[in-house]
Amino acid sequence: MSILDIEVREKAFGSTIVLHDIKLSLDNGEAAVLLGPSGCGKSTLLRIAAGLDKRFSGKVSVQAGLDGASSSPPIAFVFQEPRLMPWLTVAQNIGYADGRRFDGARVNRLIDDVGLSGHADTLPKALSGGMAQRVAIARALYTEPRILLLDEPFSAVDAFTRMKLQDLVLKLVEQRGISFLLVTHDIDEALYLGDRIYMMGARDGGIQQDLSVDLARPRDRRAARLAELKSDVL
Ligand code: ADP
Ligand code: MG
Repeated sequence: MSILDIEVREKAFGSTIVLHDIKLSLDNGEAAVLLGPSGCGKSTLLRIAAGLDKRFSGKVSVQAGLDGASSSPPIAFVFQEPRLMPWLTVAQNIGYADGRRFDGARVNRLIDDVGLSGHADTLPKALSGGMAQRVAIARALYTEPRILLLDEPFSAVDAFTRMKLQDLVLKLVEQRGISFLLVTHDIDEALYLGDRIYMMGARDGGIQQDLSVDLARPRDRRAARLAELKSDVL
């Protein structure tokens, strides 16, 4: 069952058409990846999906969180850069995320869950890039979303930190039953994280989705993804 459907007939900045004829959906529990080169319109599309940009022709429908069981917003966003408030501690950055009540116990659980135990009172300037992105992930999860949108969340950290953060996100969303749509220009990352991969590329002078790949979830994810990449995609 799909919980997020995005249809963009056209999105332009001024007279430049950036996206056209795009249709994608996110199923319940699905890990979807939007893969494409820099400048192809991935961030633009993700902002549209999040409802942050409404100036396009088409429509976005969200089915998640509309069952009345929860008052939390169904969608949370993780940006490429952590965007922490520099004057707030780690705990405050997480717990003031959605303007609702600060729940200290929930914040502390999340701090542990993202591997930042002992850093509740640390200020952002004392954090490494990878640690700051862990805070951003915790801040997104604090709002208890059904859907997580991530825009190149690991591209500013080193390869080893990236692998740790990829596995952390996979674990956290699986535990919570969160569906995600992640944007990346990294093919290995797309294959590792995605059950479904939407490829974007330039065509006809515009940008459109030109391939989607459905992959079954194997036990050894990274190995299976790379094997399938070699045999099926390339
Ligand atoms: P990606 O995230 O895939 O690198 P973007 O969605 O950021 O690509 O950008 C797609 C295209 O739209 C680029 O050519 C970029 O220059 C242009 N663009 C993005 N945002 C704006 C904006 N606010 N105003 C004008 N052009 C923009
Ligand atoms: Mg981008």
